Amino acid sequence: MPGLYIHVPFCASKCPYCDFYSVVGGEKTDAYCAAATDELKTLRRVGAYAAGLREREISTVYFGGGTPSLLGAEKLSALLGAVKENYSVAPNAEITAECNPSSSLSDGFFETLAEAGFNRVSLGMQSAVDAERKRLGRKATAEDVATAVKNCQRAGIDNISIDIMLGVPGQTDQSLLQSLDCALSLGATHVSAYLLSIEPGTFFAKKRDALNLPDEDAVCDRYLAMCDHLQKRGLRHYEISNFCQPGFEARHNTAYWRDEEYLGIGPAAHSYLNGRRFFFPRDLDAFLRGEPPVDDGPGGGWEEAVMLALRLDTGVSLKEIRETYNVASSPSLPVTLQTYQSVGLLTFDGDRVALTEQGFLISNTVIGEIIAAIAP
Ligand code: SF4
Repeated sequence: MPGLYIHVPFCASKCPYCDFYSVVGGEKTDAYCAAATDELKTLRRVGAYAAGLREREISTVYFGGGTPSLLGAEKLSALLGAVKENYSVAPNAEITAECNPSSSLSDGFFETLAEAGFNRVSLGMQSAVDAERKRLGRKATAEDVATAVKNCQRAGIDNISIDIMLGVPGQTDQSLLQSLDCALSLGATHVSAYLLSIEPGTFFAKKRDALNLPDEDAVCDRYLAMCDHLQKRGLRHYEISNFCQPGFEARHNTAYWRDEEYLGIGPAAHSYLNGRRFFFPRDLDAFLRGEPPVDDGPGGGWEEAVMLALRLDTGVSLKEIRETYNVASSPSLPVTLQTYQSVGLLTFDGDRVALTEQGFLISNTVIGEIIAAIAP
C-alpha cells in the first residue's frame, strides 16, 4: 500500500540551519492549496508515473514541510478532504501533520485537525531549553510546546512525535537529557532525534566557526547516552534517529526505509511509484505554474533496499535480498560481516544483518562496505 506525502513549503521565518525547501511568508498559501488540490484530483502532472494509484489503498498520509501548521487547520483539513475524496485511504491509515508549536496555533486548531481525520502530530520542539531553541531560530518557548501537546491530546490526538536535535550550539549532556525527559513527560509516543548538520548555503554554514559546536567525539558520546536514556524509559530504538513507545513506529517513514512506494505532491516532494523515482523541483512558483515533476531514474534496486533496511534495528535478511533481487552475494561478504561484528558494529546471525548503535554512528561507512561486499 503506497503512502502519500504532501510538502507544504511555507515557514514563518527561516531557521539558520535549515536546508528543507520552504519560503518565508504565507502570501501564496491559497494558490498553493489550489495547485496541490488540483494535482491530487487530476494527477495531471505526475501522469503515467501514478498509473493504477487510485485503485490502490493509501496506507499513510503525511503533511511535511516547511511548516504545514502555518496553513491553518481549515486549509490542512481541506487538503486532507481532497485526499479522501480522490483516493481510497485505508480506514486505519496513519495521517500526520507536522506542526510548529507556537503561540499562534489558534484555539480549536487540533480539534479541527482531529475532526478532519488527522491522528498523528509531529512537533518540532528541538530542545526544551529556551536558550538552545533561540539559537536554532525557534521563537516558541518550552511552555508553548507544552501547551501545544496538551491541546493536541485534549483534541484526542495522542500519537505525538517530538523532534529533538543533537549537537545544538551550547548543548550539554545534561541539557539533552532534559529535553528528552521533557518530551517523555509531555507524553510523546515517538521521538525523532536528529544530529545538527551544517548544510551548505545555510546561515549556520556561514557562521560555522563562531557556533561553538561540540566536537565529533562529544556528539557520538551524547548519541549513545541518548539511546541508553530512552531505552531505559521503555522506548524502542527502531531506526538510526527514531525511538518510539511500543507500537508507535512512524508508519509513513518506516515505509520509506522498507523501500515501499509513495507519491509526493508539492515543491521539493519526491516520489517512488511503479519502479520510477521522480520529484517536483524546489520551486514554489514552478509548482504554481503547473510544471511537471522531474524523472529521477529507476528505483527499487537491491542496493537501495539494503541501504534503507540497514537504517532499521531489524536490519536486512540476506536471503530475502538474494531471492528478491537475484543477487549472488560474494564469498568475501561473511568475512566483512564478521569483521564488523567482532568490533561491535553489527549483529549477524548467518542471515540477518543489523547495525548496532555503535554501527549507526558510522552507518554510511558500514553500509557502503556491506553493499560493496555483497556484489564487489
Ligand atoms: S520551521 Fe522547519 S522547515 Fe521551516 S525553516 Fe525551520 S527547520 Fe526549516
